[in-house]
Amino acid sequence: MPRYLTKSRFKMAVECPTKLYYTGKNDYANQKNDNDFLKALADGGFQVGELAKWMYPNGVEVEFKGDFEKAILQTQALLKEDRVTIYEAAIRHENYFVLVDVLKKTDQQIELIEVKAKSYDPQVDTFRNRTGGMDSQMLPYLQDIAFQTWVAKQAMPHFEFSSVLMLADKSKPCSVHNLNQNFKIQKDQNQKTTITVKPGLKAQDLGEPILTPVRVDEFVEEILSTALKVPGFDGRFEDLIKEWSDRYDKDVKIPPHIQHGTHCANCEFKTSSRHPNLKSGFLECWQEATGHSIEALEKGTVVDIYNYRSKHQLLKQRKYLFEDLERSDFSAEPSKGEITLGLRQWMQVSGDIPGGGDFDFHQHLARETMSQWSYPLHFIDFETSRTAIPFFKGQKPYSSVAFQFSHHIVHADQRLEHKGQYLETRCGIHPNYSFVRALMASVGETGTILMWTPHENTTLNSILAELMDDEFAPTDAELLKNFIRDITTEKVNPSLVREGKRCMVDLCDVAKKTFFHKMTGGSSSIKKVLPAVMHSSRFLKDKYSRPLLKRQGESLNLEEMVWWREEKGQITSPYQLLPPVFKDLDPESVATLELDPDLHISEGGSATVAYGRLQFTDVSPAERDAVHQALLQYCELDTLAMVMVYEAFLHGF
Ligand code: SF4
Repeated sequence: MPRYLTKSRFKMAVECPTKLYYTGKNDYANQKNDNDFLKALADGGFQVGELAKWMYPNGVEVEFKGDFEKAILQTQALLKEDRVTIYEAAIRHENYFVLVDVLKKTDQQIELIEVKAKSYDPQVDTFRNRTGGMDSQMLPYLQDIAFQTWVAKQAMPHFEFSSVLMLADKSKPCSVHNLNQNFKIQKDQNQKTTITVKPGLKAQDLGEPILTPVRVDEFVEEILSTALKVPGFDGRFEDLIKEWSDRYDKDVKIPPHIQHGTHCANCEFKTSSRHPNLKSGFLECWQEATGHSIEALEKGTVVDIYNYRSKHQLLKQRKYLFEDLERSDFSAEPSKGEITLGLRQWMQVSGDIPGGGDFDFHQHLARETMSQWSYPLHFIDFETSRTAIPFFKGQKPYSSVAFQFSHHIVHADQRLEHKGQYLETRCGIHPNYSFVRALMASVGETGTILMWTPHENTTLNSILAELMDDEFAPTDAELLKNFIRDITTEKVNPSLVREGKRCMVDLCDVAKKTFFHKMTGGSSSIKKVLPAVMHSSRFLKDKYSRPLLKRQGESLNLEEMVWWREEKGQITSPYQLLPPVFKDLDPESVATLELDPDLHISEGGSATVAYGRLQFTDVSPAERDAVHQALLQYCELDTLAMVMVYEAFLHGF
């Protein structure tokens, strides 16, 4: 198999050239391999690629199935035509190889079109930043098309080239129903992600385009003619890719340059709990670059500091390990009695908790904050989906679809009630307005509403905007809009914030300011905070060691569930206690339907993916019912988790 520098390897090398050494080696962990299919489902990149082909009709597809030579020869044969459109055109120059999403040839002109599920707003200068440089979000896409253009120009120097990025246009509403469902994401026999286009699909079924082609020749020229900046290297584009291609071909590692930025923080070549026995490229790099032992590095490095913005400064000072850091590296003093971000970081790094123990809790501040809330307390959590290709007519790329909420109440006498829930997964039913209607009925007119992070606020504001734009808005639109305005805040412009008279309170913000636990690693994700509070709260142990009962209104979906459990002295995260999605299906049906017997819905991303899957009509009733039930249980736990955090704060530790 030739070891070409391809588009994806070029992209990886721009992030960090050392990665070329680890890629494709089965003995090294690669976290990107773990969730490739889920990511494809969630971000819709494959679907956008397929949709884009319909904007360049009558093209010929070069089917690349790992046979480089065959694909290159087929492309060369097609390019003999005066006018031709080729999908996945295979082009090689020396040791460089690219598959171009769409290549359009007209006589001596060739247009190269790279399709991205990246949002684009034509009203905003998406490509330049304030100082006139290239926008950092867009730069990887521009570098990608620049690489393809360079390879194609070298391979076919007698043609004139233009370069185009095809992007998901946020200003274009979808003019047809069920656009997304025309492009089904699947795995083939080799576990490769593929798209199956709905049989009999016609161009008119796709309505008005929601993708926009943007000519980017100016940026491509700039990238090819100026220095390419990558961690540890600054050099001419051609010089750098030549070196990468040579080293990759000979399988020689480019030495790691960990001091030059924070690229290592998100390195995919770290081991995870899923594959603890694979080698860690991250640890090998850091051992090589710092001289520290693997054991010392495993105790924590500066890239592990939660939400620390100045990692590059520490790296420049050659501070690599937690033990290299001092309190003065952080703004680690409490302010107004709150735990500041700097103090959280210092406690994470040093393990130094005021008064000793596992956690720091500013009870006085927490109680003072909670005393301003009024009963009944409403704990709400939303599950939403945002896809490049909308599911529903009228929605724009990446518009929010609010398909589920859960709602727990704590009454003034501290009685727990799982008060309400909403879940709409039927194909083709746009849930947003009925979602708001159900939420409005569930939370009533009194009591403080709590969310975890501002996701609920953002989602409701997005539905408010949708209602304002909708010429076919429902008859109760004013009621829905007023309800949303009442419970949300919104930054109208840099100096004006609209605040509803009953706006939601962010419980995560309260937790950040008042509570730190060593078990969270500094994170304020509910998935981390919940087991930490359970570990240290006597109240939670007593209350949740007994089952919650449906008949007493404590649960809507789980009968007699005991949430407080421990194993070998360690609390088991309730999210690990959620049953597998297909637990009630017999193993034969699970196998026949090609379902994953171990599938769990235990985080928001998998809930979104599950929703996307249910939007396709060919899901069996058994699978649909099982996924529906698993979504209900997952979202119930999210709001119960908030209740538990509240209870731990109220009763103390
Ligand atoms: S650990 Fe850092 S230097 Fe090593 S491959 Fe990953 S990003 Fe590159």
